[in-house]
Amino acid sequence: MSGSAAPDTTRARLLAQAQGEREWDLAVIGGGSTGLGLALDAASRGFAVVLVEAEDFAQGTSSRATKLVHGGVRYLAQGNVALVREALRERTTLLANAPHLAQPLAFVMPGYRWWERGFYGIGLKMYDALAGARSLGDTEFLSSEETRQLLPTVRVRGLSGGVKYWDGQFDDARLAVTLARTAVAQGAVVLNHCPVTALRRERGKVTGVVARDRETGAELTIGAKCVVNATGVWVDDLRNMDRDKGAKKTPAIVAPSQGVHLVVDRAFLPGTHAMLIPKTEDGRVLFAVPWLGKTILGTTDTPREDIVREPAPFAEEVEFILREAGRYLDKAPQRGDVRSVWVGLRPLVRPGGDDGDNTKQLSREHTVLVGRSGMVTVTGGKWTTYRAMAEDVLERCFDSRLLPPKPKGVTASLPLLGASHGKGVSMTQAPGEHLYGSEAANLHKLPGATNWLWRDAESGQPALSEAMVRFAVRHEMARCVEDVLARRSRLLFLDAAEAARQAGSVAAILADELGSGFDAQASQRSFEALAKQYRTLP
Ligand SMILES: Cc1cc2nc3c(=O)[nH]c(=O)nc-3n(C[C@H](O)[C@H](O)[C@H](O)COP(=O)(O)OP(=O)(O)OC[C@H]3O[C@@H](n4cnc5c(N)ncnc54)[C@H](O)[C@@H]3O)c2cc1C
Repeated sequence: MSGSAAPDTTRARLLAQAQGEREWDLAVIGGGSTGLGLALDAASRGFAVVLVEAEDFAQGTSSRATKLVHGGVRYLAQGNVALVREALRERTTLLANAPHLAQPLAFVMPGYRWWERGFYGIGLKMYDALAGARSLGDTEFLSSEETRQLLPTVRVRGLSGGVKYWDGQFDDARLAVTLARTAVAQGAVVLNHCPVTALRRERGKVTGVVARDRETGAELTIGAKCVVNATGVWVDDLRNMDRDKGAKKTPAIVAPSQGVHLVVDRAFLPGTHAMLIPKTEDGRVLFAVPWLGKTILGTTDTPREDIVREPAPFAEEVEFILREAGRYLDKAPQRGDVRSVWVGLRPLVRPGGDDGDNTKQLSREHTVLVGRSGMVTVTGGKWTTYRAMAEDVLERCFDSRLLPPKPKGVTASLPLLGASHGKGVSMTQAPGEHLYGSEAANLHKLPGATNWLWRDAESGQPALSEAMVRFAVRHEMARCVEDVLARRSRLLFLDAAEAARQAGSVAAILADELGSGFDAQASQRSFEALAKQYRTLP
């Protein structure tokens, strides 16, 4: 797919299709990586697919990842070879199918204790060996001088050398929107801002969903042969909708674990290499990742019982990240250096009957369950493996005779919209038109292509234009300021104060695009409140 002609994602058209009388093959609930990957796979096999997302695509966990396309070195340390091997295979597939949004990234692990270089180096050699022909580059032992060259701001005192290895990085939310649009190009109907409020049930079987269009309040009744609940940490809410009247509450399968990231300037980690600290003072993992012109520091893994849309970080998590980053970087980042803080909830799967709260013991693999009513639930896993998860879910739908079998493998070589194999710009650089891949040409046709709203302060790179905002509405299904500044542009995640400053201009362009039904002031105010949370540390 060259990406030259954007699929028709007009909301009115998609709503009209979803509302029709027809029975769909598949209704997917949830527009994160799991649901979107499934919708794309099923549509590309020729099934009639509808997907409904309560908020925006990737508004949940799928916009809050560490941005790594990875096999997961730490899962190898836990001995989970099968999980790592599958993720390494998927890493290659994603880098090939979306090169404008996912690229190889070199990591350096600095060593300060005599045994570290050898011990971790052997593990990382094994990690590379597991990738086999899919290796992105050799794992190399580095002298302390070589380590310093690749990580110019690494703490030099006590540095005994390092290990370099390869993984990948990506723009998670843009990839999610691209999956949604590619699914539409394959014939699916995907709708954001449409929460499922009830399940359609007949004689104990789930036969569809009832959703509400948040913009008009209209109710959509969607009949489907197969309904898949792909709502991440919210899967238990949907499982509880799937109960007979008076039946007792369904036991939860998800134990959420919170992960915090702090974003600081690129100057804290210049260069194009990420840093991995495999074991901090208290035994945790810490990454410092150059991403879109800034540095991401993270993450944490803290059990959390309440599932909220915008979880706030705990003070201990912020202290941990700043303290540990300060131990390994020349200049320790301070609270005042933090440009944005974001928090995601991992949908970890509870082992049967265990309600313990040690999240490190919980499964990192995905789980697929088929309920007595026929509703399929999928949760867990990771972004990197979304495509393999979709194949797995469809296999279960076939085995359970919810859908007639069709052969797999279509998505393994399906380029996502905008995929282009020209000379790419590194994802470590500030955002810009390069993130649109082969669709950049379409941007230039829109008004305001050279009207730059925001330039990255450190590099001067033009990063957000009026045309990008118009493109977000016309082609990327953005409906409010947050959709644009959090997930089409990533400005909220990169610099929350700057994002708040842009809210007014973006709201005005949205008003021009969306017309009189759009409340620009309300959209701006609600985004400003969100941006305040992203720049407030506990
Ligand atoms: C801190 C952190 C770091 C991570 N880093 C990485 C990484 O670097 N690499 C990697 O591969 N993986 C990473 N992961 C894992 C990865 O992000 C998740 O596995 C993945 O995003 C989960 O996607 P999902 O679609 O299952 O859930 P979500 O993205 O949460 O999607 C579920 C969707 O369902 C919607 N929904 C809920 N209720 C309803 C309803 N009633 N009706 C309609 N829709 C509804 C929600 O709005 C939401 O958008 C990380 C996770 C965390 C938390």
